[in-house]
Amino acid sequence: MFDSGVPFESFPAPGSDGLAQQSPIFAGAPSGAQRQKTLKSAISCTGVGLHSGAKVTMSLRPAAPDTGIVFRRTDITGGGAIIPALWSNVSDTRLNTSISNSKGVGVHTIEHLMAALAGMGVDNVFVDINGPEVPVMDGSSAPFLFLIECAGLTEQHAPRRAIRILKRVQVVDGDRRATLTPGSSFSLRVEIDFPVEAIGRQECYLPLTASSFKEEVSRARTFGFEREVAAMHAAGLGKGGTLDNAVVIANDGEKVLNEGGLRYEDEFVRHKTLDAVGDLALAGAPIIGHFHGVRSGHAINNRLLRALFADRGAWTMVPLGDAEVQASAIFAARRPLVAAISA
Ligand SMILES: [Zn+2]
Repeated sequence: MFDSGVPFESFPAPGSDGLAQQSPIFAGAPSGAQRQKTLKSAISCTGVGLHSGAKVTMSLRPAAPDTGIVFRRTDITGGGAIIPALWSNVSDTRLNTSISNSKGVGVHTIEHLMAALAGMGVDNVFVDINGPEVPVMDGSSAPFLFLIECAGLTEQHAPRRAIRILKRVQVVDGDRRATLTPGSSFSLRVEIDFPVEAIGRQECYLPLTASSFKEEVSRARTFGFEREVAAMHAAGLGKGGTLDNAVVIANDGEKVLNEGGLRYEDEFVRHKTLDAVGDLALAGAPIIGHFHGVRSGHAINNRLLRALFADRGAWTMVPLGDAEVQASAIFAARRPLVAAISA
């Protein structure tokens, strides 16, 4: 399963294609500052895309400081194969988060992988993939987390930088709402309200640390209704969607059809929180601030980042110190992470 052997040399060297190289201003990190991280070694997996049903092989590879998360389509030759994972490259948010570059080359369903990378604090990685969609695996971030843990992480010389939220930014769309407000570390609160017995009203509060991400949300799977799965299949989408990679709710809304039931009592809102971690990772750097989503999804999460970056007074780049991480860990230890209001 591990390492597909896709030749690294088939890609331009970092920097030759306009991707960031290590900058001289990051030659040394001040003490107390966090350093950027990449993978210790390359690692691969094989799976099917949720929507295309296509079998794909994906390799995560170490990358130089300040590269960020960069997808590379190994089935496409030339410079058009490179797609940086940034909010400005988001091209479709209807069923998942897709990114594409100026040549129209893209990758679908990146959010669960992005969440795993952000949750584990991976700053720089090349994601080499030989098809148009990240494999769905089991519908959660857990298999990607496992890959990252198998590869291991290594610190780089460059200091980590974060986006500090300076003022409230909000996007409202009918009864959906997404808000960023200033805070001492990165935390998320997500609320959902589905008028069916199997889901109901649920709320999740997550101060983001590697351990809180792993323990509280990484295993939460994507979900849908039986009729949606049938409609997607009829439209030629969701071809890879099965009970093995999604929680499927019966049409009457009363129960889940998966034999093993739920992984968490409130798996639905935990998955929406996981999605928000992945979507907000497209900011390009960790966020210092609080996210609040009410019935939020991929579309409004991306609109929120666009609203944030459209307002130059709403954010600033700062070195990420240990203090912010400690603040998150203290919150995580003190406060109940997840509360199901009425599931
Ligand atoms: Zn999802």
